[in-house]
Amino acid sequence: MQVCLGAGQDVGRSCILVSIAGKNVMLDCGMHMGFSDDRRFPDFSYITRSGRLTDFLDCVIISHFHLDHCGALPYFSEMVGYDGPIYMTQPTQAICPILLEDYRKIAVDKKVVEITKHIHDNRALRYVELLPLSGTVQEPQSTSNAFTPPLTHWLLSPCILIPSACETPGTSPLMLVDDELEIKAYYAGHVLGAAMFQIKVGSESVVYTGDYNMTPDRHLGAAWIDKCRPNLLITESTYATTIRDSKRCRERDFLKKVHETVERGGKVLIPVFALGRAQELCILLETFWERMDLKAPIYFSTGLTEKANHYYKLFIPWTNQKIRKTFVQRNMFEFKHVKAFDRAFADSPGPMVVFATPGMLHAGQSLQIFRKWAGNEKNMVIMPGYCVQGTVGHKILSGQRKLEMEGRQVLEVKMQVEYMSFSAHADAKGIMQLVGQAEPENVLLVHGEAKKMEFLKQKIEQEFRVSCYMPANGETVTLPTSPSIPVGISLGLLKRELAQGLLPDSKKPRLLHGTLIMKDSNFRLVSSEQALKELGLAEHQLRFTCRVHLHDTRKEQETAVRVYSHLKSVLKDHCVQHLPDGSVTVESILIQAAAHSEDPGTKVLLVSWTYQDEELGSYLTSLLKKGLPQAS
Ligand SMILES: [Zn+2]
Repeated sequence: MQVCLGAGQDVGRSCILVSIAGKNVMLDCGMHMGFSDDRRFPDFSYITRSGRLTDFLDCVIISHFHLDHCGALPYFSEMVGYDGPIYMTQPTQAICPILLEDYRKIAVDKKVVEITKHIHDNRALRYVELLPLSGTVQEPQSTSNAFTPPLTHWLLSPCILIPSACETPGTSPLMLVDDELEIKAYYAGHVLGAAMFQIKVGSESVVYTGDYNMTPDRHLGAAWIDKCRPNLLITESTYATTIRDSKRCRERDFLKKVHETVERGGKVLIPVFALGRAQELCILLETFWERMDLKAPIYFSTGLTEKANHYYKLFIPWTNQKIRKTFVQRNMFEFKHVKAFDRAFADSPGPMVVFATPGMLHAGQSLQIFRKWAGNEKNMVIMPGYCVQGTVGHKILSGQRKLEMEGRQVLEVKMQVEYMSFSAHADAKGIMQLVGQAEPENVLLVHGEAKKMEFLKQKIEQEFRVSCYMPANGETVTLPTSPSIPVGISLGLLKRELAQGLLPDSKKPRLLHGTLIMKDSNFRLVSSEQALKELGLAEHQLRFTCRVHLHDTRKEQETAVRVYSHLKSVLKDHCVQHLPDGSVTVESILIQAAAHSEDPGTKVLLVSWTYQDEELGSYLTSLLKKGLPQAS
């Protein structure tokens, strides 16, 4: 079963709750950048209803550092009260707090400001106790490191993925969350440190992609997954209907537009996320400027350049092969033409190119610059990524040229607005490719718009003949699985089976009787005797007793003797005994003679047997009911 708390038929605030074989895992904990009311966070009330969250959730997994995938973490831990384990890759763990900090600076709504304030509140750090994993205890992070203000309880996965770089697909080894829950990470491309995750409990498994890119770009490799055949693949579908033109065409187009604008003395604004596309586009412009010997300045806004480069250098194994090779000879991330931006530069005359955050023009420096430059038709804004509804970025991309800013001020947009899909999401072709690689039994689409999802859903169902779902937020999808449970068979039981002359044949399934015992989550089929022995139990005996009336005036002892000699003569193949206490036994069957309470001329025979000897017991009863031969 699984539930979408966010990103159901929507882009933003990714948050999916998956229940698999009794384990509850939350996939991503993102925020929606298009809202500033309650809709900006996933609806956690769905799980808070189940009681204490930390008890309910076995773990939280974060796919990558984008805020629509991890932005609600501070709220989730500080306000909702979750303090269980959170899994993420090392680069994500390092970079995510910078983005949150960056967001706090520009956040307009009080709630977010208040919550994120806790990041630097030392009291919040009391949560930091990294859990032992795979037998190793992680040292708590030093709190003096300015780049890693741990939110709460960051549980570092011990894996460092081997990056794919196309020729060496990257996966992590399996990590055990507990005795039953296993996690495996796959390289996802998209941004530094992004990963797709396989969650496995017994024979059931789910793969969650987060955001991924199936084509390598200038600084990262392509996403890769093996034929893991999960019961369910949960994939993003941001570009569900887009088949993007070739990478090279897009790059040429981008450079042409920037070049033309700069040539005619205009300014180019490129709103970007702090890390990700920005680095790729910087590499692209840097090479072009060098080749064309251009003089117009290129700036990268705020102090983020340094931080970004710091992390790319730190996590160079996560980048693609070309970058890794170049890095040995020359640091690809130290740019000759790209310089740090100062606020005052925006008013300088003449052409320039500025990379500014945030990427959707919803606040901060990119929006400030946009407002300054929007009135001049010589200028250009290039949106290189997806913009969620409600942001200025989305508005201008959908053609709005008169924007109402705060204070009822109307901003007229005369500058050219361009959109270039450099966003590192898989397109329709890429999503189909991933489904083909993983061979899932079912597919579930998240992180996309309903109409586009519908199109992709049909395509997937037709091509792969698997069920495809696209739940809305809060909607539950339940998938029946037929888990195969391996059961060990004891040697004793096998030997007994073989003794009956039946040789095992893998092609012919057959019934095997025994007692099933579960120990340490393992099942074994053993004989009932062995089960009793292992469990220290005594067998419970159930005896049936039947009364048979006989006409006999002699004493009970003599009746017993007569019964004995009769049975002895009739049942030649059985062991018939006359015991010292006067009772008679035939195998396990016991026969006793007693006086009748009212009639001295009648004797009562009590015949008793266990359920195993039911057949012989009832035979004896019917035999005795016929009476005894006359005494000689
Ligand atoms: Zn992303």
